[in-house]
Amino acid sequence: MNILVINAGSSSLKYQLLNPETQQVLAKGLCERIGIDGKFTYKPDGKQAIKEADVAMPTHSEAIQAVLNALVDKDNGVIGSMKEIDAVGHRVVHGGEKFAKSVLITDEVMAAIEECNPLAPLHNPANIIGIKACQSLMPETPMVAVFDTAFHQTMPPVAYTYALPYEYYENDKVRRYGFHGTSHKYVAQRAAAMLGKPIEELKLISCHLGNGSSVTAVDCGKSVDTSMGFTPLAGLPMGTRCGDIDAGIMEYLMNKYGMDIKEMLNIMNKKSGVLGVSGVSSDFRDLEAAGAEGNKRAALAVEVFEYGVKKLIGSYAAAMGGVDAVIFTAGVGENGGGNRANITAGLDFMGIKIDVEKNKVRGEEIDISAEGATVRTLVIPTNEELMIALDTAALAK
Ligand code: AMP
Repeated sequence: MNILVINAGSSSLKYQLLNPETQQVLAKGLCERIGIDGKFTYKPDGKQAIKEADVAMPTHSEAIQAVLNALVDKDNGVIGSMKEIDAVGHRVVHGGEKFAKSVLITDEVMAAIEECNPLAPLHNPANIIGIKACQSLMPETPMVAVFDTAFHQTMPPVAYTYALPYEYYENDKVRRYGFHGTSHKYVAQRAAAMLGKPIEELKLISCHLGNGSSVTAVDCGKSVDTSMGFTPLAGLPMGTRCGDIDAGIMEYLMNKYGMDIKEMLNIMNKKSGVLGVSGVSSDFRDLEAAGAEGNKRAALAVEVFEYGVKKLIGSYAAAMGGVDAVIFTAGVGENGGGNRANITAGLDFMGIKIDVEKNKVRGEEIDISAEGATVRTLVIPTNEELMIALDTAALAK
């Protein structure tokens, strides 16, 4: 079975064709600058990536057509015809309270996704454009929507309720939703496999640390709390996002500098986080290098981030009444050995201790716990595309 996984943004589109049974990625790539000057990247398994500039891609439709052409190309294609694509899995950012799991896309589902647009105005409309473009080019192929928010729909009211007047929840759906759900679900399942225990018997803390970061408490396989909120701006400081701050700061700065809410939010989304504190970069590798050269603000930015993760590990262990394993995933979680060491330093009191040598391993699933640790620390490369393909295959069957 071949599943095409599509992650459509407003001017870009990531794709992968994979076989969920063998987990082989047949081809993957990226369409960028859709509606501008079209850049196309295509990488068939085992061959060099092909890059093309100035590809005519006025809309997502031409971008997807370019993907399909590449997949069936006689020289570099990986399938004989489009009929060999059994289903398409679409990443959709926001499913609101309507979607607690992935679904086969119907007209009603499309309408329900559109209803969630106000909750993710930058992402959902782009996801919908991607779905519609695929539907018009592949009308006979089943399409599945996999939501970033779905895994977190198991959170209890005590974790998702904001202490605002209750009518804002009832009338306006203002609550914690959480994001990165596909990643947290995937690594939680892998953790159970690595530990050789049913997920229903485990208390896990999943740390998805990348350019965007969130931590999730997974109790018996279910998300019971997560650090992102109504929007992906909440929780940890990130590459350029501020994470949780005192809401009163917004009024103070807006009054002082005559900013409107748009300018304030632009600062909070694009100019804050580790970039804002360091003044150097949003990329953790740059910060590590700058910190090593004595840049104090770069070092502080990383420390603020690591301290945030450490506090979430402590609070989620308290929320679940214990923890069996802490999982690190995504760019920083998978690669940042120094970050993992700093985050877990001093947590021996709760049974978390990592092995210095094992912590040097990169890019593979590994238990990095030190001897005697009663809580396992696992590094698990995330694979959202595989998770989307697995859900899509299950529903398309
Ligand atoms: P992601 O959003 O998951 O792609 O993660 C991107 C982030 O991972 C960037 O800030 C990268 O600097 C960071 N990253 C990648 N490799 C490393 C590394 N070796 N050490 C620390 N951070 C890394």
